[in-house]
Amino acid sequence: MGETRSTCPYCGVGCGVIIEHAEGAITGVRGDPAHPANFGQLCTKGRTLHLTAAPALAAARLTQPLQRASRGEPALPVAWNTVLDGVADRFAACIREHGPDSVAFYVSGQLLTEDYYVFNKLAKALIGTNNIDTNSRLCMSSAVAGYKQTLGADAPPACYDDIDHAGCLFLAGSNAAWAHPILFRRIEAARARKPHQKMIVVDPRRTATAAMADLHLAIEPGTDVALFHGMLHHLLWDDSIDRTFIRDHTTGFEALKAVVREMTPRIAAEICGIAEADLVTAAQWFAQGPTLSLYCQGLNQSTAGTAKNAALINLHLAAGQIGAPGMGPFSLTGQPNAMGGREVGGLANLLPAHRDLDNPAHRAEVAALWGIDSVRAEPGLTAVDLFDALAAGTVKMVWIACTNPAQSMPDQATVRAGLARAELVVLQEAYATTETADFADVLLPATTWGEKEGTVTNSERRISRVRAALPAPGAARADWAIAKDFAQRLEARLRPGLPTLFGYANVAEVFAEHAVTTRGRDLDITGLSHGKLDTDGPQQWPYPAGATTGKARLYADHVFATSDGRARFAATKFVPVAERVDARYPFRLNTGRLRDQWHGMSRTGTLATLFAHAPEPAVELNGADAVRRGLLSGDLVRIESRRGAVVVPVAISPMGRPGSAYLPMHWGSATLAGRDSTGINAVTAKAFCPISKQPELKHAAVRIAKLDLPWKFAAFGFPEDAVRLIALRDGVRALAGHFDYASVVLVGGDRGGVFLRAAAATPVAPEVVTQLDALFGLDAADVVRYDDPRRAIARRVRIVDARLAAVRLSGDIAAEAWLRDWLTSGQDVTAMRAQLLVPSVGAPKGYRTRGRTVCSCHGVTESDLRMAIADSAGPPAAVLAAVQARLKCGTGCGSCLPEVRSMIN
Ligand code: SF4
Repeated sequence: MGETRSTCPYCGVGCGVIIEHAEGAITGVRGDPAHPANFGQLCTKGRTLHLTAAPALAAARLTQPLQRASRGEPALPVAWNTVLDGVADRFAACIREHGPDSVAFYVSGQLLTEDYYVFNKLAKALIGTNNIDTNSRLCMSSAVAGYKQTLGADAPPACYDDIDHAGCLFLAGSNAAWAHPILFRRIEAARARKPHQKMIVVDPRRTATAAMADLHLAIEPGTDVALFHGMLHHLLWDDSIDRTFIRDHTTGFEALKAVVREMTPRIAAEICGIAEADLVTAAQWFAQGPTLSLYCQGLNQSTAGTAKNAALINLHLAAGQIGAPGMGPFSLTGQPNAMGGREVGGLANLLPAHRDLDNPAHRAEVAALWGIDSVRAEPGLTAVDLFDALAAGTVKMVWIACTNPAQSMPDQATVRAGLARAELVVLQEAYATTETADFADVLLPATTWGEKEGTVTNSERRISRVRAALPAPGAARADWAIAKDFAQRLEARLRPGLPTLFGYANVAEVFAEHAVTTRGRDLDITGLSHGKLDTDGPQQWPYPAGATTGKARLYADHVFATSDGRARFAATKFVPVAERVDARYPFRLNTGRLRDQWHGMSRTGTLATLFAHAPEPAVELNGADAVRRGLLSGDLVRIESRRGAVVVPVAISPMGRPGSAYLPMHWGSATLAGRDSTGINAVTAKAFCPISKQPELKHAAVRIAKLDLPWKFAAFGFPEDAVRLIALRDGVRALAGHFDYASVVLVGGDRGGVFLRAAAATPVAPEVVTQLDALFGLDAADVVRYDDPRRAIARRVRIVDARLAAVRLSGDIAAEAWLRDWLTSGQDVTAMRAQLLVPSVGAPKGYRTRGRTVCSCHGVTESDLRMAIADSAGPPAAVLAAVQARLKCGTGCGSCLPEVRSMIN
């Protein structure tokens, strides 16, 4: 039995974990009590990490290099040396014939800093292209641009401790309760300790976070700049600005005043669709402070992303709310290491250590550090442009690492056209069956959490070690090492005879070289090394040589990272979203996260437990819109934008405003696997912020119409052996394309089964049903059967040890919900055997659907909670105590607490 300290690979909170392992397998995980990001707590995703590493799920992993003779052919095993030599030959030939910009790299905010560093150097130093961008472009690039435009450097000035010191928490475009759960536990704790602490939430939806706010500003999507300018207008009118701070430490206030002059609170409130009095209250609470702003994708994923970030920072500068405990702008990083990627300059417009490509002095410094003649000045292609260039044929080869653009990029039609047209797609991945894998000519197996060594940086600039508890599975290798080996092969072809630029003996040497590049920069970490982090634990930057500790807060001296040391107000006018709603596309579509899933679900999608909170894809619609369109929860709708369409069931929800719709970002074509589906990003918009180049994933104009697919189908069940779960899931996915609509998810909690819900205009071919039956073991002789060929209704039920093991319903699936509940609960069905075959039968008398699971730790469902709440009396705190005493909900990781509180309220 061993224990290894590491870091959670999911969100930017950056929680420390202790991995428990024995005999070559990870057996458990718990929060690291010594880690300052979480002090031992973990959310639903973090506390199930060890389950994602279970040997039974090994089939989900890519453990051997694979290569396809041509697209559509099976990918066959190939030796590392052969495949890397082959790819190096093809990259070198392409670069010689078409120039360095004919190739590109698309990497990930989930890579470790060291992985990122080597990829960036491979592109910019060796190949001489700046065509390296990352999925962080979809996540944090507006925050980067906002910081640089106002404070002079991409450096979040605040830290997690500031939550405890703040008098006002201003959350904008952030559902932290779901997206950053452990940070939200801190907010809950601070509010419990400080009853007078104010909490304002700016969000078009009444999220779990908004439900806890003292003031929820449910603005129209994309109107944040109008709101912030309106608040500043009020502060000016009320003389609540800090004139001394503005005079001594800033520039540009007069220009900003001219911009906000016309944005009166009344006009701003009208644009935002909120009450003027609420806007004024928000401005007053903000000015009283100390105010800590926490913000995320609602500001970033916007065509005005930079302007939104800068307008919020304007408020902090005007009110003097920066540089002291409890105050300042604080962007919450989406991905675990988007920050590390920014530190090494792993974006198409950046260079190492927060240097800029468009700065000749910076280019010269980096060329000297890397030992090359020069760095190209032209910026590379950012994410959206990169896939457009692939589709246009100007970029011919792409190397994708640790990300899944065929799921996550907006406007999937163009992205998939680009991948299809590319002459060579190399995919470096830990998981075998992401959507992008279908487009890859070469698949290179990479190590993942529990197997990797390196570092990551979280939202508060804290660098933590990531450590391996296990050896790499099969032939998988560390990302940095794959990039290094490829780089050395390419060097031999592009610059033979010259010394290598990639002479790293181990990952610590990569970190050491990265640290040297930061000398004298705002993020100077020359005092850090892997050894130092191993000895002293996670540290915040800057941490220059000779320092004994990092810096908790920046700009305490009010000297900013600009040439004159003064912060700059950004005088940017409000502009609305790129795609206006109109009579043809009347709905505003927003996208975002679920509580228990992570991005494209390549890891979280292997655990049935993590589907319990949101079991199936659905689009949230406001009740008034549903009534107007004659829609009920569960009805299928076709959502269509100017780019594509997706079919999903409706979930009626009070969270959104009338005229709006909300789709979780996670459902790609692996889950929404029906005919021609490309997942939810079929409809999202690729219009991007002109400065940050971040696409407006938070808003698309769509139309929504009921889709009548009369032939219904559902099949669900457990594999005969747990190790067959992934094979069953992938087998079902492979057949799902025969249906007009299909979703393939996991079901059944700890045991793990697969659930296919499908529908079609007419019954699918019998052989498809036969193949699905065979996958679920419903072709065995002892399976209970019912067939009515005249009405195309059939039912198959497999019972093992008196419990449901698999069910298939076709034509009539009215009994699907309760049969699925029975399958999951494992209850004895001996007495119900006859009833199992009655078509259209309702649930047995007294049956109560358990609904989705709200508390994953203790398996508490929505209906359990409603009953317990109904049985309790008193003020909300007393009801919560009574409910918790009965059900224990929220006493584990606490991730369900915001929702439980919301239900009680
Ligand atoms: Fe991981 Fe949850 Fe912590 Fe984020 S909040 S780092 S997902 S444990």
